[in-house]
Amino acid sequence: MIVLWRVSNHCNLACPFCAYDKRLELPREEVAPDRVAGFIDLLGAWRTATGRPVLLSWLGGEPLLWGSRAEMDARAAARGLDLSLTTNGTRLGSPTVRAELVRRYREVTISVDGTADFHDAMRGWPGAFAKLARTVPALVAEREAAGAPLRVRVNIVLMRDNVAGFASLCRTLAAWGVDEISFNQLGGRDRPEFYPDHRLRPGDVARLVEEVPRLQAELARMGTRLVGGAAYLRRFADSVAGRALPITDCRVAETFLFVDEAGRIAPCSFALEHFGVRVDDLRSPEDLDALPQRLMSHQRTRAPRDCADCPSTQQFAKFEPMAPLAA
Ligand code: SF4
Repeated sequence: MIVLWRVSNHCNLACPFCAYDKRLELPREEVAPDRVAGFIDLLGAWRTATGRPVLLSWLGGEPLLWGSRAEMDARAAARGLDLSLTTNGTRLGSPTVRAELVRRYREVTISVDGTADFHDAMRGWPGAFAKLARTVPALVAEREAAGAPLRVRVNIVLMRDNVAGFASLCRTLAAWGVDEISFNQLGGRDRPEFYPDHRLRPGDVARLVEEVPRLQAELARMGTRLVGGAAYLRRFADSVAGRALPITDCRVAETFLFVDEAGRIAPCSFALEHFGVRVDDLRSPEDLDALPQRLMSHQRTRAPRDCADCPSTQQFAKFEPMAPLAA
């Protein structure tokens, strides 16, 4: 079970495609630590009762700015939960932060969208790429020295502005020593004003379909896995062609749950209000065990509006290894 928890919508960067860009005036919130502590205890009890592993993954905003993280990490680790987070990388210059990640975490995903000319401007962080070019390899080296099981992944947001540099960026990231590279296409829900002029076009996706399998083989020889199954690229092609993908039988919650800073829980971040379930409503491992079925039944009988064109990357094998693509 993967639980992706958006613990805070505070961020220290200014990305024009993101809902939590620091320039936006919006209520900035963090999840209450006692709410997280209670759910960690429940996940630990569920793990013991079922024997199934749990990956608890912090998301933001920027989760490395979240003041309760270290305390919650210790609590989760004591209950046998694996830890993960997604970061913009601004805190990776701290040896203390890197040491915590190496010691406690299974997985760290760092957002990098291009080389210096593109990434620094897109993230509103001058010198970002040069700093990451030092701190990401340092994290990998410290992981190696410790013999720790930490997986270092980079995620790339693809848009028409950076797709031509995708292969070159992947080679650079492989040279940094990252274990895995994932990617997603720019979405339009967070910042509809940015989307039309930057979204992928059919020609961009055709380029990816041709490029990615070769690139995957090349990166594998460098020790880096490029993930994203064939179904995932077909989803890109459908999106750019304007073909909606309705889901009437959503099974995402069988393996994945999303929680927000208010403690709402759903199969994805797009339908939190619709399901009306909060982590506080779940009191026993049996409640948690029954949750996927409860969410699935609800989705089948009263589907959220977003299911008419599901935007969830979990639905389309984002993290599957690339298989040969059909012609
Ligand atoms: S939007 Fe997608 S992931 Fe979310 S509930 Fe609907 S089908 Fe499931």
